[in-house]
Amino acid sequence: MALLRGGLIGCGFFASNHLNAWRELARHPDGAEIVALCDRDPARLAAAAAEFGVARRYADAQAMLAAEKLDFVDIVTTAPAHRALVELAARHGVAVICQKPMAPDIADGRAMVEACERAGVAMMVHENFRWQAPLLAVRAVLDSGVIGRPFWGRVSFRSGYDVIAGQPYLAEGKRFIIEDLGVHVLDTARFLFGEVARLTASTTTVNPAIAGEDVATMLLVHRDGVTAVVDCSYSSRRARELFPEVLVDIEGSDGSLQLDAGYALTVRSPAGIEQRDVSPTLLPWAQVPWHGVQESVLNIQRHFIDCLRAGTAPATAGSDNLKTFALVEAAYGSAATGETVDPARFA
Ligand code: NAD
Repeated sequence: MALLRGGLIGCGFFASNHLNAWRELARHPDGAEIVALCDRDPARLAAAAAEFGVARRYADAQAMLAAEKLDFVDIVTTAPAHRALVELAARHGVAVICQKPMAPDIADGRAMVEACERAGVAMMVHENFRWQAPLLAVRAVLDSGVIGRPFWGRVSFRSGYDVIAGQPYLAEGKRFIIEDLGVHVLDTARFLFGEVARLTASTTTVNPAIAGEDVATMLLVHRDGVTAVVDCSYSSRRARELFPEVLVDIEGSDGSLQLDAGYALTVRSPAGIEQRDVSPTLLPWAQVPWHGVQESVLNIQRHFIDCLRAGTAPATAGSDNLKTFALVEAAYGSAATGETVDPARFA
């Protein structure tokens, strides 16, 4: 079986994780390889090409798509560039992976999904948190039914990690934590508890050096009966820094589960109390503390390739991710007005 051929656009801070994962997937006969790289910044393009041994390089995505025969493009630029690049790929009939957040505005997101649907090409948003091993373990417990019907939950990300050092653009946007990190925990809440009927949010800016909000607390009433608190912060000065761990607490009719600090999973069910270490794997190219995120990058890219070969929709297809995007819009809307918002308003 031939490897699928991909072109990667955007060789910045996060792209090395994609490229390391692609290098691993190129070792599998039914995997994929990156045959061309694109970045408008010549230094970043040259550095990535040298590190990952990719000979074909382009300063312009249009030129790359015109010259290369690709099965997919992997877009790892920041959000303002996503729509034009996704539409470009759709025009060339090439499947697309687009990093989160999908776009600066949900109207752009909808246009991107429609462009791919019209062109008949697959589109996946690289919403990788739900592919983290500890969160997959939580989902497996829910699916097993041992805690019964969930009725309450919490998904929490609280950190003081200086994320702006690696991603300076995060300090500049009017929107910060909900758009950048909240999108991950809101998607995790959908992954665990299903769709949301009502959302109420409150936000704060603690760090005076940033333009957007760095703390958000959201109350989600899910359609299937779970009420969840979803909270995130980049200004938490806690005794134990947990970046980038997501903590989860769920109560069900027959038991409960907690994903605690240090990837410790505790499940209470009628059978008793079980404790497990659900730490992510430290892949050879990964670094602590990013390793759980890095493993999820490999998992989601493998999933995309499997779906492309099978002709099935990825879990975080563009159309699915619009539902997560609607939660982001609902959170900003609620925080601005103080009102409870039905995310369907944005769907
Ligand atoms: P970055 O600014 O470091 O890198 C982006 C690169 O894209 C730059 O080198 C820039 O020159 C290039 N670029 C921008 N527009 C281009 C265009 N039209 N054509 C060619 N090249 C172009 O950004 P980053 O920190 O690597 O973030 C990229 C994306 O990854 C963002 O959307 C961010 O939210 C996301 N991200 C995701 C995770 C995750 O866990 N899923 C973590 C970090 C960042």
